[in-house]
Amino acid sequence: MRRLALVLLATCAVPALAGRKPVARNAILVIGDGMGLAQVTAGLVRGQLRLESPVVGLSKTFSSRQLVTDSAAAATALACGVKTKNGAIGVDAAGRRVPALVELARLKGMRTGLVVTSSITHATPAAFYAHQISRKNDEAIARDLVTSGLDLFIGGGRRFFDRRSDGCDLMAELEAAGYELVTDPRGLAAAKEPRLAGLVAEEDLPTITSGRGPYLPDAVGTSLSRLPGPKGFFLMVEGSQVDFGAHDHDASRTIAEILDLDLAIARALDFARRDGETLVVVTADHETGGIALTSGSLEKSTVEARFGTKEHTATMVPVFAFGPGAESFAGIYENTGVFDRIRSALGL
Ligand code: MG
Ligand code: ZN
Repeated sequence: MRRLALVLLATCAVPALAGRKPVARNAILVIGDGMGLAQVTAGLVRGQLRLESPVVGLSKTFSSRQLVTDSAAAATALACGVKTKNGAIGVDAAGRRVPALVELARLKGMRTGLVVTSSITHATPAAFYAHQISRKNDEAIARDLVTSGLDLFIGGGRRFFDRRSDGCDLMAELEAAGYELVTDPRGLAAAKEPRLAGLVAEEDLPTITSGRGPYLPDAVGTSLSRLPGPKGFFLMVEGSQVDFGAHDHDASRTIAEILDLDLAIARALDFARRDGETLVVVTADHETGGIALTSGSLEKSTVEARFGTKEHTATMVPVFAFGPGAESFAGIYENTGVFDRIRSALGL
């Protein structure tokens, strides 16, 4: 299985290893899907976010051809460092495979993980391991995950593994590839095998306002207890449903998702402060909803939001960085610059 993954990698246009000297041993990339500056500000008013006094930058989220990106092109920019067409996963605008941070990190012997609140086959996580022309190919994306070599992944999307139109049982294939399968989030922390496949929902996890509980921060905690090792690790964490709340024009749910993501960020920052060798980057793939904060009360910690669209917008999104290599994240750059800076900090 390992050999197969390497063969697949060889078909990617893997850039020559630059041999750059790493400044960070580990990197944690936190993506709030749809988390623009208004969303972050609303979170700050509602409850003291942990994003205090880091290095801050701004990322231009345009895709290869469109002013307003979708989550697939945006995730491909963050994960693979190339601008592509909306809808594309881990391939460039001409449809050619491009290697993701997860793959580059594995080539260096680092351990890798993904934690999300959507289906693990959803556009954002998919760009970190899959190479598909369309984000809609959930079953093909699930197939790519089986051979990805990821040390752990935690999210939903079980139905793309165990109830497939091709009749294949990818749950069995994951087990054959050495993964411990966990389908109940309460079982994640107790997993013992070196590889962990957490498929804890049929598709997306419940929203934070309908009983998801501390799943996300706990899953990040589990990941941070499993991934550290002598060659370092790369972990991507996504607050997938900040975007869903904004698409639905539900301000309180959007903010609740941000506050939940902030608890996960707190776990990452606590780890990074203790560790001293971990770069933490918090950003968004794009803004969703065109949110304007038009009124509210500092005294009561309330905020009123108006939505300008049901879709995404082209507004730049913030990038917050902590730890070794963080200073390079100051300034204004393309979303592909987030990939470039993480890659450079890890010496990939
Ligand atoms: Mg997403
Ligand atoms: Zn969206």
